[in-house]
Amino acid sequence: MHATMMNYPLTTNHLIERAARLFAKVEIVSQAPDRSLVRHTYADLLQRSRALAKGLIDAGLTKGDRVATLMWNHHAHMEVYFGVPMAGGVYHTLNLRLSPEDLGYIVADAGDRFLVIDDVLLPLLAKFGDKPPFERIFVVRWTDAELPEGCVDFESLIGEGAPESWTPPPASELDPIGMCYTSGTTGRPKGVVYSHRATVLHCFGSALPDSLDLSIQDTLCPVVPMFHVNAWGLPFTATMVGAKQVHPGPHLQPDALLDLYAKEQVTVSAGVPTIWMGIMKLVEQHPDKWKLQPGLRMVVGGSAAPESMISTMDQMGMRVIHAWGMTETTPLGSVSLLRPEHAALPEAEQLKIRAKQGTAPPFVDMRIVDDEGQEVAWDGVHMGELQVRGPWIAGSYHGGVDASEKWTDDGWFRTGDVVTIDAQGYMQITDRTKDLVKSGGEWISSVALENALMGHPDIAEAAVIAVPHPKWTERPLAVVVAKEGATIDEAALTAYLAERFEKWWLPDGYVVRDQIPRGATGKFLKRTLRDELASASAS
Ligand code: ADP
Repeated sequence: MHATMMNYPLTTNHLIERAARLFAKVEIVSQAPDRSLVRHTYADLLQRSRALAKGLIDAGLTKGDRVATLMWNHHAHMEVYFGVPMAGGVYHTLNLRLSPEDLGYIVADAGDRFLVIDDVLLPLLAKFGDKPPFERIFVVRWTDAELPEGCVDFESLIGEGAPESWTPPPASELDPIGMCYTSGTTGRPKGVVYSHRATVLHCFGSALPDSLDLSIQDTLCPVVPMFHVNAWGLPFTATMVGAKQVHPGPHLQPDALLDLYAKEQVTVSAGVPTIWMGIMKLVEQHPDKWKLQPGLRMVVGGSAAPESMISTMDQMGMRVIHAWGMTETTPLGSVSLLRPEHAALPEAEQLKIRAKQGTAPPFVDMRIVDDEGQEVAWDGVHMGELQVRGPWIAGSYHGGVDASEKWTDDGWFRTGDVVTIDAQGYMQITDRTKDLVKSGGEWISSVALENALMGHPDIAEAAVIAVPHPKWTERPLAVVVAKEGATIDEAALTAYLAERFEKWWLPDGYVVRDQIPRGATGKFLKRTLRDELASASAS
């Protein structure tokens, strides 16, 4: 017997065509480099994406060709998200904060043919040396600056638009549509290639009420860059549900963001914890300056959201939605929300649950496996490596990278995160395999120490790293940044931590810094700290 249903492809082309039909007038607002606001609609997005697709094909793009981007978050980047796949191509978002070495490596590895770049980012072309390795460079113009020789105005691709009669080439749901490289905190960047199908299913998984709860009622402002795992897929998800979108462009400073939230009545935003630290500081200083939407949801991911951040945001009338994911997981892998049975718990207990990384959405399977390859019980205590599988989880990397150790023989992706999962299925990251402090044969969670330290009133930021030790193999060392006006008292910090952890977990020392080094996606770069501090403290 056969099922009698149609085999209808899951493509992003459908998302944008439907949005233009049903939500034609819903706005996509982009903040330009001069901070003026440029307004488009979903009808414009379809019209311009179609024109871009046709323009690219006329310019010589063939199926599977890669189009790189060096752009902030705005409407033209969205046109590339939809227009390049519509033409049968694959967009490849380049992280503009990467080093010249990494950028050169990534562009060559991806085999990028064309580049679309913001005019305000043209100086970045210098990172590629005298001759950028692209056949064609299209420039999105925000200023009157002249185009460098050999570059073409992006608008010339859009031209008069594609005629009504033009139809995009047929697409299979398994076709590749976009590429993103891992941010390289764990070695050479590796390319992940998203398909129409994975992207569409990820939209369903993340829009769900018990995931990010996105709907047409929302105004979304993705602060997470569109070059960081497709701004966590949010521009696609928002298009699926018809939410208004507000893109911050290059202005990611806390005051510029708060102005934008207030002006456009943003109801949901998303970014890494370092962004919210800046926002919290400013709201604390000027509690009445911005008229924010009550209950503004802040999706926090990329690094752990400490309990202190979640409760401070609560007090400020914002609601943290803590989520976990990776480049390889498109990225949504789990969300931490309270269930009805948690309603009666004291606030402190609720906070503990919300600070976990949470439960997997439908179709993401999780398991934890120990060093011997044995599955670990879901008891919230025993740790092991998190492994995942599902329709939006990568099954391999682009190109010939040998990364066979990243997948198990039975087809699960090895995340490199060390976690516990409790009986209700809430996953909690205790560390990344390479960040765990292995002291005297036992594991110490650097993340648990960092989260506790960041709850101390004198501390703004904390990173705990492993440093070599002659007797214990490794010991924890805390790198801390003091809050404005505060001074660090090491003895007081040790006493504070001693109330929460066993004695042998406590850091052997503290290093006070003005800032913790950050990587290209805003996460703490512990590798840099280890390189700098490991040898110094071993002596
Ligand atoms: P990279 O792996 O190069 O850092 P990703 O952006 O893919 O690049 O980062 C994924 C990693 O970020 C995860 O494996 C996890 O360690 C960390 N991460 C993501 N979200 C969270 C979170 N909510 N809490 C703690 N760690 C997180």
